[in-house]
Amino acid sequence: MTNTKRTVYTGWNLKNSYERLPEAFFSNTEPTAVSSPELVVFNKSLAESLGLDTEKLEGDEGVDVFVGNVVPEGASPIAQAYAGHQFGHFTMLGDGRALLLGEQVTPSGERFDIQLKGSGRTPYSRRGDGRATLGPMLREYIISEAMHALGVPTNRSLAVVKTGESVIRETDLPGAIVTRVAASHLRIGTFEYARGIGVEELQALADYAIERHYPELKAEENRYLAFYREVLKRQAALIAKWQLVGFIHGVMNTDNMTISGETIDYGPCAFMDEYDPKTVFSSIDVQGRYAYQNQPPIGKWNLARFAETLLPLFHEDQEEAVNIAQEAISDYDSYYHKHWLRGMRDKLGIFDELSQDEPLIEDLLGIMQKHKADYTNTFRAMTLNHLEETPMSESTEFTNWYKQWQARLDRQEESKEESYQLMRKSNPAVIPRNHRVEEALEAAVSQEDYSVMERLIDILADPYAYSPEQKEYAKLPELSDRPYQTFCGT
Ligand code: AMP
Ligand code: MG
Repeated sequence: MTNTKRTVYTGWNLKNSYERLPEAFFSNTEPTAVSSPELVVFNKSLAESLGLDTEKLEGDEGVDVFVGNVVPEGASPIAQAYAGHQFGHFTMLGDGRALLLGEQVTPSGERFDIQLKGSGRTPYSRRGDGRATLGPMLREYIISEAMHALGVPTNRSLAVVKTGESVIRETDLPGAIVTRVAASHLRIGTFEYARGIGVEELQALADYAIERHYPELKAEENRYLAFYREVLKRQAALIAKWQLVGFIHGVMNTDNMTISGETIDYGPCAFMDEYDPKTVFSSIDVQGRYAYQNQPPIGKWNLARFAETLLPLFHEDQEEAVNIAQEAISDYDSYYHKHWLRGMRDKLGIFDELSQDEPLIEDLLGIMQKHKADYTNTFRAMTLNHLEETPMSESTEFTNWYKQWQARLDRQEESKEESYQLMRKSNPAVIPRNHRVEEALEAAVSQEDYSVMERLIDILADPYAYSPEQKEYAKLPELSDRPYQTFCGT
């Protein structure tokens, strides 16, 4: 059952610039209609910032749009083609269960992709039903919005709608669709796909990406190289932010790495609890390729694949192009390190820069690892000066470290008060704790009780507030002997 009905909805201002790319980049595809949709969660403030009519969207009209039963005026749904290195191996992909409705141009002139995920099969779905289930779609909503509130660049979630149909997995599960909002869905994998078609297509895509995300580079002498360098900078900065908040993406394949520098594809991701650089949550990542400590080098590996695809645009002489690419990639480590170190100094209330800072930070992380200290809560306890809340506060190692840190703070011009203020802005009081997310999903999926999730979303909306209500959400779960595992959300 397909549906081509188009209705006017106040506030939609959808454009379709992606369709001006060569045809090989997409397939026009209508969403598959569903029987009895029900709105489960709606992001009113995001809708407002997009210039949408929130009252209408909260009613039946919105539900129909968010589920794909009605396509809003101006929309021209397409599935995007892409490829990617998945766990190191090159594969042809494409939106197998997602559709781009169009690009919403906001009242302030910004442009955002509006995408439905779970909207049915597309020409790129070789396997699978093109559908998604309620638990993983709500999980994406909760975590992507939490990431946004934490200050990490990310796509966002506008709504989750239950389709009213069940989806067959190991058991029958309620089907759902999430509406995502992103700067774009251009990925490293889109470029890998383009390279496979031809240099002309590759250049068309690069020009499109520059126009959309880096228009200031158009005048550069070698604009493709300048473009590459900017993407590299944004990716390095993004991954540094992930490390700083303890976020583990879980599936850093090149098709999940954006040109805009936003986090996308919330599948098996989760936040680290105990500080252990080897932490992996994803059930499919048996080798630990995407473990916490591997995220920065994998980011570089992905950017090397990106550089390879762009070689013909860097220089007509291949050897020269390779030299250019290698030189550009070599900047990654220092960009990443600079962002990470600045972020870590902020977490410790350090304003100026001394060479002793990095060993000081490394020492703390080493002590945390040894004592299996919770990553977020250790920084939270230091921010609140409630050291007794960390399991290592009694240890001599930590006591000695603490004295060194305090002495370091004394050496800068800023007052202790200012340091603690900086720490409050840099260390979240709450993150989406795995047991809290699970609890919210369980209530939503099994009991159709969305109140637990709504409260969690509220608590996570201002992670640096240090409000009394957040206290409860900072608590760790009762000890469990089963390590937390996440799944790809299919
Ligand atoms: P992801 O792990 O979400 O990045 O997905 C990898 C690829 O598998 C993408 O091309 C998806 O569109 C596709 N895919 C994932 N789940 C399904 C599904 N249920 N039906 C069809 N395609 C899917
Ligand atoms: Mg993906």
